[in-house]
Amino acid sequence: MPLGNMSIMLSRAKDGGYAVGAFNILDYNSTKAVVLAAEQMNAPVIIQTSAKTVIYWGTSAIISWVQQLADTSSVPIALHLDHCKDLDLIKECIDAGWSSVMIDASSKPFDDNISLSRQVVKMARSKYVTVEAELGAIVGVEDDIHVRHQDAHLADPEQAIEFCKKVEPDCFAPAIGTAHGIYKGVPKIAYDLLEEIAAKVAPPIALHGGTGLADDVFKKCISLGCAKVNISTQLKYAFIDGFVNYHNANNTEYNPLKVIDAQFDELKVGIIENINLFGSAGKA
Ligand SMILES: [Zn+2]
Repeated sequence: MPLGNMSIMLSRAKDGGYAVGAFNILDYNSTKAVVLAAEQMNAPVIIQTSAKTVIYWGTSAIISWVQQLADTSSVPIALHLDHCKDLDLIKECIDAGWSSVMIDASSKPFDDNISLSRQVVKMARSKYVTVEAELGAIVGVEDDIHVRHQDAHLADPEQAIEFCKKVEPDCFAPAIGTAHGIYKGVPKIAYDLLEEIAAKVAPPIALHGGTGLADDVFKKCISLGCAKVNISTQLKYAFIDGFVNYHNANNTEYNPLKVIDAQFDELKVGIIENINLFGSAGKA
């Protein structure tokens, strides 16, 4: 089927009390792992690309993998550009066929964040492309966006309301205490803040920095209104470990397709676990 509308997927998830997994892909093999995992679980799914991955492969290669897999797929699939500050790259992805984009102008002053995010919404909506926008600073490293601990700040609820009213994003990513990368120690999630923001703004909430959160943390965040959960770091580990571990265990065998298969299996197992955890299995 053609690429799905993320806004519809997320509204259904919000109403149904589950979340749709958004998995960052790296190449064709990882894209296939996301799609086949979603099909096996009969779950809607979001294929997510970092700006860095888009620049690495180019838009036409990525769109061809995704479209080929989506064409024969029985589950709704959205293709979403993760954290992007560059309006030219956002436009390039929209023109190439991405069904959703994220503008991350969260490092800018509040008013500039509103106007840049608004600009992307205008540009995207005319092409039926959905938009995620961020408020506050999510700590850690995502792509080339580094946010140090002392620079991280949580989203302010009053600003969140104003931001969502003025920008009208299809999905909203407020900083609530999660972090990109690997957690050092137990993350402090501002559940009260998440609950307040989710109750007061219209769009569904995206949970960033999903890798490493405990199962009950995911469940609580989803019950409080997170309808999209981003998983990136976990897949980076599976991508490399799946490949390396197979070769280490079979180091006299030089059959690349077997190594690629092992990588695929490692990725798919992790994606299936997440889909089950987020409650999106059977929701396609
Ligand atoms: Zn993120």
